[in-house]
Amino acid sequence: MRIFEATVTSVTTLSATLKRIRFALDGFESTGVGDEYIRLFFPHTADRRNISLPTAEGDSWRFNEGQPEAPMRTYTIRDAGQGWIDIDFVIHEGGIAAEWARSAAAGDRLGLNSPTGLYERPEGCTEQVLLCDLTGLPAAARLLETTPDTVRTRLVVEIPDQDSRITLPTGTHIKTDWLIAGNGIAPSLLPEAARTITDGLSQGQRPYMWVAGQSAALRQIRKLLRRELKWSARDYKIIGYWIPNAETWREKYEALDPAIKEDLMKLWDRFDDVEEATDVYEAKLEHLGL
Ligand SMILES: Cc1cc2nc3c(=O)[nH]c(=O)nc-3n(C[C@H](O)[C@H](O)[C@H](O)COP(=O)(O)OP(=O)(O)OC[C@H]3O[C@@H](n4cnc5c(N)ncnc54)[C@H](O)[C@@H]3O)c2cc1C
Repeated sequence: MRIFEATVTSVTTLSATLKRIRFALDGFESTGVGDEYIRLFFPHTADRRNISLPTAEGDSWRFNEGQPEAPMRTYTIRDAGQGWIDIDFVIHEGGIAAEWARSAAAGDRLGLNSPTGLYERPEGCTEQVLLCDLTGLPAAARLLETTPDTVRTRLVVEIPDQDSRITLPTGTHIKTDWLIAGNGIAPSLLPEAARTITDGLSQGQRPYMWVAGQSAALRQIRKLLRRELKWSARDYKIIGYWIPNAETWREKYEALDPAIKEDLMKLWDRFDDVEEATDVYEAKLEHLGL
């Protein structure tokens, strides 16, 4: 793991709710995986050029004693080249990251870490389904660009309004549907879309399914694929990207008994299979009302 310092070089408005910000940085190496993500470290004061950068330590990082902790959020690398990266920010109400992006300008600085990709279409699989809301759109767009046209792709994107549509890659192998729902303005229709798509599969037809969006809606899709339809973990990737009322969620999480928090963290070491760990983790969170 490495920690980088990145400087904004340009800001482009892509839609009513999406802004692309280009950063210059040295030594960053993309994994090339379409949904690779990084942790962004934001300014801890009003000075947009002053970042309290953590120190890399093995696979993680730490802030030294007495050092201010930079607020951290997770974002996708939309594109990367020699000495630059692009990140597409959803502009929503509230939030350190969204507020920062709303007024970002050349010269602003952020910290970030080395990227990790999660998308893993099985070798030889020639069909995939991508389901996401606005937060997953940057990754879905990059996945469309990086998937060969021998792979039939069905994309369902949930956006808050028609003005949030952006231009996406097209081709005879790509079918894109836009839904106006979710994104904090209405209940998510992604669970319904997942059910309609899986109901329509023929015997033995098994596309790779990649899903990113609001966590609670995604839990329903995970239950459908894993519990009801008994899909193998290699056939899907479901990643919760954001939580409604995140402030209350974080407060509730922080207020948990330290032993419960430790138990939750240790889960990831207790299981070799990350899906089994996720089953237990999500059941425990649901039980705790989180
Ligand atoms: C692997 C991964 C990749 C991601 N990639 C991207 C990306 O490329 N672009 C991107 O914009 N986001 C992305 N996200 C989602 C992003 O991390 C969250 O939306 C994050 O909560 C934003 O932080 P914030 O400081 O703006 O808001 P927070 O402080 O987390 O929340 C403030 C308030 O805003 C609400 N809120 C947060 N996100 C949204 C939203 N999207 N819509 C409506 N309300 C919201 C919260 O519920 C809360 O009430 C990704 C998340 C993950 C896990």
